[in-house]
Amino acid sequence: MPISEFGIIRRFFLEAGLYRPDVALGIGDDAAILTVPPGQEIVTATVPLTANGDHALPPNPSFLGTWSITSGLAQLAAYGASPVWLTLSLTLPEANEEWLGCFSTGLRTTTVEYEIQLVGGDTTRGPFNLILFALGLVPVGKAIGPTGARPGDLIYLTGNPENPLSGRLPRPSVTPPPHRDTAMPTPRIAEGIALRGLATACSTILGDDPAAALAAIMNANGAGATIYGKPPAAQPDLDPPSDANQNTPTPSTGPGKFELCFALPPNKQKELEGRFKHLASRCTCIGSIVDE
Ligand code: ADP
Ligand code: MG
Repeated sequence: MPISEFGIIRRFFLEAGLYRPDVALGIGDDAAILTVPPGQEIVTATVPLTANGDHALPPNPSFLGTWSITSGLAQLAAYGASPVWLTLSLTLPEANEEWLGCFSTGLRTTTVEYEIQLVGGDTTRGPFNLILFALGLVPVGKAIGPTGARPGDLIYLTGNPENPLSGRLPRPSVTPPPHRDTAMPTPRIAEGIALRGLATACSTILGDDPAAALAAIMNANGAGATIYGKPPAAQPDLDPPSDANQNTPTPSTGPGKFELCFALPPNKQKELEGRFKHLASRCTCIGSIVDE
């Protein structure tokens, strides 16, 4: 007998992860009730995914479960938000228990890792479609996002970039489909939080295209950018100490998939160095914002 919608929810989503005290009402009712601490506001990010074949379930469900969450968290990071809750809308061509088991394992591991809770959603039948909402909290007025950069601000990338923008014009962003062999990138949550009150603008690099993140900042501010022609000199002060975040994966070469591109007033460089000292990621100045 095929598993019912309620059976799917109970088996694969109800126990997916941990329980946060700020969830007054989670999965089980018609809606969720979430407690927002005084002085905080909510930032939301949406991750939509469709499959190539109309009636096929996409491969690598465990990766997909993790990837959909981490890419939502990566977008929250650009706002300096601390991730807290998720909702998930899932449309499946069939209730394939093996697929659902792997998918929910990916969800569960990731929600536990980031201490966030899946608080609701919907499950329907049809051509594969997934829409994940990631919700985060930020102190009122402290969210960053792409708007706010001014001419003269320096442009930085997190990670370990080798000036990937050199000689390239910004082009539109394309969200890459999840891929089996791709190592799971780390959303730069701690880095986004460290940029609160410091960066004037910030955008997430989704995929290997830092130019798209920079373009988002330029478009949002009607500004241009000058990118240095060759890799800037190593900035030893910005290297994390060797014993910092030993368990946190660091990017290998080039910008990781979930790095941040941000703008910083030049007089904030020292403070930036101080804040990044204990983080997993470095950050490197690659250019500056100019009038359009
Ligand atoms: P029904 O369609 O039978 O009325 P609902 O769609 O209201 O059931 O779902 C029952 C509960 O399960 C709700 O609390 C809903 O938020 C939750 N839920 C349904 N699908 C998902 C999902 N994919 N992920 C997380 N929660 C889900
Ligand atoms: Mg339903």
